[in-house]
Amino acid sequence: MAKSRTWTLWKDDKVNEEESKLLRKPAEEVPVPFDAEAKKDIKTLIDAFCSRDDALGLAAPQIGISKRIVIFKNKNFGEKTRVKNSSEYDVLVNPRLTQTRGKEEKMNEGCLSCPDISVEVTRFEEIKVRAYNEEGRKISKRYTGFLARIVQHELDHLEGRLVIDHGGAVSFPREKEAFFSRLFKFES
Ligand SMILES: [Zn+2]
Repeated sequence: MAKSRTWTLWKDDKVNEEESKLLRKPAEEVPVPFDAEAKKDIKTLIDAFCSRDDALGLAAPQIGISKRIVIFKNKNFGEKTRVKNSSEYDVLVNPRLTQTRGKEEKMNEGCLSCPDISVEVTRFEEIKVRAYNEEGRKISKRYTGFLARIVQHELDHLEGRLVIDHGGAVSFPREKEAFFSRLFKFES
């Protein structure tokens, strides 16, 4: 299984300039039908996701691939387990949000690319997405509740948008206060 490191905006008390650049830029469309490189990138992301138990979702830019591909658990969100087969996750290639519905809900979110913090983010309760699946078939999906939140989080990554860009309250451990106060220019 491919070993992929997760790219992050910072690590401990240091900003990752190079990784931030890629995480911050809009990802590229994947050619359809998929060429060999697209198939390889999709497989790399699936393998990276399936090899860890601490992620609800993963977007290609998070492993250094600036392409419009995301993967996320579609069930068992509460369990810290690896997904075992393809019925437990969805892959969306070139996803487009086609509809948002319901009231907007606030919740704290973490992100592997923004370690040590959680941020209050407002998301839509229900969304519709058009995309291609990992086999290159056109799909149309409706997501609600917590799953809709996960998908919106992953789609944000494809625009180079991260949880800290939503303007919500940021929570972090007390011992990290010096670093994060500087980073987010808080009054402390
Ligand atoms: Zn994330």
